[in-house]
Amino acid sequence: GVPQARYRETARSAWGDIELAGRHLEVPMVAVTGTNGKSTTVRLIEALFRAGGRRAQAAGNVGTPVLSLVGAPLDVAVLEVSSFQLEATEDFRPHVSVILNITPDHLDRHGDLRGYITAKQRLLVNQKPEDVAVLSCDDDTVRAMAEHTHAEVVGFSVRGEPDTGSGRRAAWIDTGAAVLRDGDQLARIDLTGCALSGAHNQENVLAALTAIWVAGVDPYAAAPALADFSPLPHRSELISDALGLQWIDDSKATNPGAAIRALESLPGRVIWIAGGRGKGLSFETLADRAAVSTIRALLIGESAEEIEKALRDRVPCERAPDLEAAV
Ligand code: ADP
Repeated sequence: GVPQARYRETARSAWGDIELAGRHLEVPMVAVTGTNGKSTTVRLIEALFRAGGRRAQAAGNVGTPVLSLVGAPLDVAVLEVSSFQLEATEDFRPHVSVILNITPDHLDRHGDLRGYITAKQRLLVNQKPEDVAVLSCDDDTVRAMAEHTHAEVVGFSVRGEPDTGSGRRAAWIDTGAAVLRDGDQLARIDLTGCALSGAHNQENVLAALTAIWVAGVDPYAAAPALADFSPLPHRSELISDALGLQWIDDSKATNPGAAIRALESLPGRVIWIAGGRGKGLSFETLADRAAVSTIRALLIGESAEEIEKALRDRVPCERAPDLEAAV
């Protein structure tokens, strides 16, 4: 968490744990970044690999330190990599990189959006032609990153077949199924039994299936894992139905983009508890989306006032001293 500016001028070189692990891991690495959906996608990839018969372990920003995988009996390491960690890499080169989406976040650390994007891009700049970059075609910023890698680019889209040229491998969602295309060969994985809901999770599932497929796992053998996979704690997690309401914990939505996607996935009216630290981000777009379905906002933390301003009388707002009081 130490800001780069504190060491860049004096240190000859500085590596974070990801760089160091990358130099010592002897198994292929699948590395995932993006603003939102990283943990869910990393856990999905781990589950799909295991169902496909590979000894896989997730590590990095998901909780298990990446260095603990060095020397472990594994076939593949699945790494969640944040922009903070990517800043402190030099030669890090995953065999498969996955970039989900980029929306503004951590601008308090990276200075501006460009700095944040440059950090994220470090995931694929060292990749070689025998590596694969799995990139969202639905996100213009991610799509444009194809120009910064030598890896084979495999695009994915939840909006239908991406326009990447028929010679390229690609993946997309088509009426409740994930389609994986290699030349004129198509694999169709039915997603109807998948327990994750919302369009944002379709994106995560599709990215995960694509990642294990390009890593050589039979997607049909792996797919049963999707039915057993439940949402991770604090990610659009239904925690109670007390008082006839659905109580949803989405406290891992720590930036406007994530909260927007979570609100979009909820049918019906919403009583919304929001707030926390703003990290230099604008709340305008989030407030516009919240105003669509929110009937009351309970605002907490440092950014309560700013969110209330952005909601501009469209939603009745109330301040609460903390989360517990708001609940
Ligand atoms: P991360 O590890 O990147 O923080 P998580 O999987 O922990 O991602 O999800 C955090 C929050 O981001 C979720 O609670 C949800 O609100 C939102 N989210 C999850 N997946 C996506 C996605 N693909 N696009 C946008 N928002 C998402």
